[in-house]
Amino acid sequence: MKPNQKEDEYIWVQEMQLRMAKLAKEQQAESEAEKRHLKLTHWMHCPKCGQKLSSEKCGTVEIDVCPSCKGVWLDKGELGTIVEGADQGSFFHTCLQIMRGRQSPIKL
Ligand SMILES: [Zn+2]
Repeated sequence: MKPNQKEDEYIWVQEMQLRMAKLAKEQQAESEAEKRHLKLTHWMHCPKCGQKLSSEKCGTVEIDVCPSCKGVWLDKGELGTIVEGADQGSFFHTCLQIMRGRQSPIKL
């Protein structure tokens, strides 16, 4: 390989890396814009029927309820909070024990 070829190759690689970085930045910006658009469009709307959700208190947790199809939606961590507040031996408490691997769902 001639010295000129090595130099050309180096410049080409540098240019490709710059283009790839620029493209990745543009794709990330588009992705963020799409996320913002989706959030504005779907925020507090039922994923099943599209109706506006209303908030209701369930113990210490505020849950989202669809007035149309009666679906209930929980944010991250809310199910755990509800289940942890359930009485020992109750259905929810048993579910929590199963999720944490402390109890087998099927007794053999
Ligand atoms: Zn609904």
